[in-house]
Amino acid sequence: MNQEIENFIKLVKINTISGSGVSSGGYRNCAKEISNQCREIGLDTKTLELVEGKPIVVASHYGEDRNLPSLLLTGHYDVVPCDPEKWTVDPFADEKVYGRGTQDMKCCLAAYIECLRRIKGVYILSIKKIKGIGITLIPLLDEEIGGADGMGKFVETNFFRSLNVGFALDEGLASPTHQVPVYFGERAIWWIKLKATGDTGHASRYLAPNGAMEKIHRCCDRALAFREKEAKKYRNGTDIGDIITLNLTSLKAGKTSDGGLTYALNVIPSEAEAGFDIRIPPTIQDLVTFENDLKNELTKGEDGIEYILINGMKVNPSTSLDIKKNLWWERFQKTCLNLGLEIVPQIFPAATDSRFLRAKNIPCLGFTPIPNTKVLFHDHDEYLPIDVYMNSITIYLEMIKDLVNLVD
Ligand SMILES: [Zn+2]
Repeated sequence: MNQEIENFIKLVKINTISGSGVSSGGYRNCAKEISNQCREIGLDTKTLELVEGKPIVVASHYGEDRNLPSLLLTGHYDVVPCDPEKWTVDPFADEKVYGRGTQDMKCCLAAYIECLRRIKGVYILSIKKIKGIGITLIPLLDEEIGGADGMGKFVETNFFRSLNVGFALDEGLASPTHQVPVYFGERAIWWIKLKATGDTGHASRYLAPNGAMEKIHRCCDRALAFREKEAKKYRNGTDIGDIITLNLTSLKAGKTSDGGLTYALNVIPSEAEAGFDIRIPPTIQDLVTFENDLKNELTKGEDGIEYILINGMKVNPSTSLDIKKNLWWERFQKTCLNLGLEIVPQIFPAATDSRFLRAKNIPCLGFTPIPNTKVLFHDHDEYLPIDVYMNSITIYLEMIKDLVNLVD
């Protein structure tokens, strides 16, 4: 087996499921493997632990002038959990590059490292040609659980600022066709909770409409009516990245004294809660006004309803696709054209680490160059065909070479 594939498999075999990556030591083991691979090819490699047990690896190949902006190749090494009994192969086995993370997104990390190895090996003498722009690879963690301890913390460090990142590549999605999606923005993610309080008493009475249940029910009805308006656009063919999705994802109520095993069905509960996941496209830029409007729409000013924003972005800039404003995009497009790779600019339907970079006004594209591949992100039997992986290295290599030649 060739070295590129062996190195990829080494990363896949380390169990880095978010949530247990700290206690299992998987995060540290994976970071160590990545940092060994980077050191081996002569990159200036550092490991930071901004949160204990959650290492971030920074590997750089600097050019002559460190003041020039750098190209950032970023990705997460954590993976989502899996149901081993639903897999027909061991999810951390090495056959045929099956395994959790082969698409999302250890393939990208391994391909970045391989590109840097080739650049270091072959292009070392042409360092003048790349005008001193540095290349930095940063594998991060916790992306699958929000990224707050990973990219979220890292972008706030002086070390990050010292990298002077001009442009970044992060993850996209696999594509079942020859066209590869390129994500220039993503929907803002919001988690909100509505908590209703109301009169309580024996369930043989009529307390409505002041019961917590009635109140939360009315809020949910309004939320579902809002949802239906957006769902209609989706059914009429609007791309999911361009509409608001709103889903009722938790409901909690009922009088219980044993942690929810049994409920007193003859008691009107004094509290009821509903939780929602909301994704907002970047076409809505004034998120503060949007939040106020949504809050009013769902609660209609009823008494005894508390609105709680658990997690909500207040800014959500996209990366400009105007070649006059974003020369990196011009170069990106040209490289794809030269490679015969058809790209489709889109809004990412979910959230990735890219949002932390865009919030710092760093242009960033989500790009996983694995066309003609069944999309198996977060799915059972996740795998990547070896020829697709090898081709992704070729694409990334051309892309990196073109991008770092950007400044003349
Ligand atoms: Zn991912």
